[in-house]
Amino acid sequence: MHITYAAAMEAAPDSTNEDRFAIGDGWALVLDGAGRYPGKPGGCIHPVSWIVERLTAHLSSGLAQPESPLTAIVRSAIEATMADHGSACDLSDPLSPGATGAVVRFGKDQVEWLVLGDCAAIIDQGIDGCTSIVDDRVDRLPNAPVVEGRVRTYLPEYVATVRNQPEGFWVLGAVPAAADHALVGSLPRGSVDQVLLCSDGVSRLTERYEWTWREVLDLHETSGPAALIRAVRDAERGDPDPRRWRGKLHDDATVVVLRAGKPRVSSESRSV
Ligand SMILES: [Zn+2]
Repeated sequence: MHITYAAAMEAAPDSTNEDRFAIGDGWALVLDGAGRYPGKPGGCIHPVSWIVERLTAHLSSGLAQPESPLTAIVRSAIEATMADHGSACDLSDPLSPGATGAVVRFGKDQVEWLVLGDCAAIIDQGIDGCTSIVDDRVDRLPNAPVVEGRVRTYLPEYVATVRNQPEGFWVLGAVPAAADHALVGSLPRGSVDQVLLCSDGVSRLTERYEWTWREVLDLHETSGPAALIRAVRDAERGDPDPRRWRGKLHDDATVVVLRAGKPRVSSESRSV
């Protein structure tokens, strides 16, 4: 197993990185904080980064138990994070902050993945192609208000009716049942060359800047994970009309790649 990773903050003044990743023996995860709306505390006194860190810690503990199903690990991690909040937080608030996430585990016979929200998992099967696992339910919401711009932004009053709801979209945070609504799958281990996990700060290469996932994998192959972060920043700086996306010009960007078949584990970490 050969593991590489890179992470970069949004690089805005006073910003806090709300992405987290973790790697272990044959597994990796990437989380991206699903934050608050201005003026809406979501019933919680904690910073979003705290919630993402608690989820990362609990998921990592669960992934150290290789016999547990991924959905059970995620459900337990949400429950443990909810317990960490303590009595000062009202987690029944539908706008309670949380995280989106992607998890992969290379088991003895199978490669399994779980994706919830706008983190992505790319399953590379070499000459058999690569498959992107992207949870786009937030882009296909029923009765969604008409919005302008290519990045959809909804009013919190609407989000409160569809967040962690059937027919809506799900995030990791304050509703354990979200685990049962994640996108999950598996393939025989021998059929998978590598798996790339990333936050949406990286997947904007494909969503905004017309890269293919194969091009993303190829750049990683030749130049490593930090080159992917640089490619994101180059694309953002070269965007002729960044205001069309609304939201932030830059976002936290995190990528982790697990490649099967290499006899040793090595890693690389760079900030760019
Ligand atoms: Zn809280």
